[in-house]
Amino acid sequence: VRATRGGEEVRGYVPSMGQIFMRRFQMVTQFRQSVEDGQVSVHYQPKVTLPNRHVQGVEALVRWVHPEFGKLDPDEFVPAVEAAGLIGVLTEFVLEQSLRRVRKWLDEGLRISAAVNLSVRNLADEEFPRKVVEALERFDVPPELLTFELTESGVMSDPQKALPILRELHSLGIVLAVDDFGTGYSSLAYLRQLPVDQVKIDKSFVLGMGTDLGDLAVVRSIVELGHSLGLTVVAEGVEDDVARDQLEAMGCDVAQGYLISRPLAEDRLEAWLLARTARSPGRHTETVLTLL
Ligand code: C2E
Ligand code: MG
Ligand code: MG
Ligand code: MG
Repeated sequence: VRATRGGEEVRGYVPSMGQIFMRRFQMVTQFRQSVEDGQVSVHYQPKVTLPNRHVQGVEALVRWVHPEFGKLDPDEFVPAVEAAGLIGVLTEFVLEQSLRRVRKWLDEGLRISAAVNLSVRNLADEEFPRKVVEALERFDVPPELLTFELTESGVMSDPQKALPILRELHSLGIVLAVDDFGTGYSSLAYLRQLPVDQVKIDKSFVLGMGTDLGDLAVVRSIVELGHSLGLTVVAEGVEDDVARDQLEAMGCDVAQGYLISRPLAEDRLEAWLLARTARSPGRHTETVLTLL
């Protein structure tokens, strides 16, 4: 198998089904311990408003550096952890880290929200809203500074279970976003039924819109649809200023992507905020960070 990783060619062998199974098995049996041992961490990717480029929030993205397997891809281990019934451990860890971070910013006079990704399984846990309230209280963070991102397929796989929990989270004042919008099956029709505030346009369309008129049309219609439903529209996968300018011209509200920053470890994010943003007085007591 030939693949490229960071521009470098990597040669490997095709792992057998047994090897894949063993790897997954090891991963999930070690997950809880890995969290305790500090191998699991959270990186944060800033999001900025368009056109004024205020740092609106960060998305929390889980990272796992395994002593044997090295850096693991969340697209591989999150579903494995989920299938093993351990998503609660993962989500609670990411939530706690994120709220601790938001709390530190508030103490510095900064109002920056954190977005945490949820899995379907979180929405099957009736205790979940109570755990979230407990965490918000523990870190003394107002609910509007917490966003939960969920995929449309996640919600639609079991709407009877997911909807009451989503409504409960929403009624608490937590912001809800539909992630990877446009990739699921029933997008438009059911968006109205969901108690959501934001749509995040899937990065595949944003990455493609410079070269593919179809992708451009999808992006444009999601922006229009989102706005006509009164939602905030976020674009992920913004890698260059051409894309950012196009999104800005369409009226897209928020941009996230490598152009602004890659996901960063907590200390690097702090350095990024210091180096790339200017502090300006906010409308209330808090300061607003604007991208330079
Ligand atoms: P997502 O929630 O859609 O997150 C966005 C993904 O796009 C992240 O990948 C991010 O690093 C990547 N990305 C951001 N900007 C760009 C860009 O400009 N170009 C490109 N090509 N990619 C960009 P990551 O961190 O590998 O995460 C992959 C997925 O794993 C996430 O997709 C999410 O579905 C899942 N995930 C990550 N962290 C968590 C978590 O804490 N809990 C749960 N349940 N799922 C998570
Ligand atoms: Mg997300
Ligand atoms: Mg996404
Ligand atoms: Mg995704």
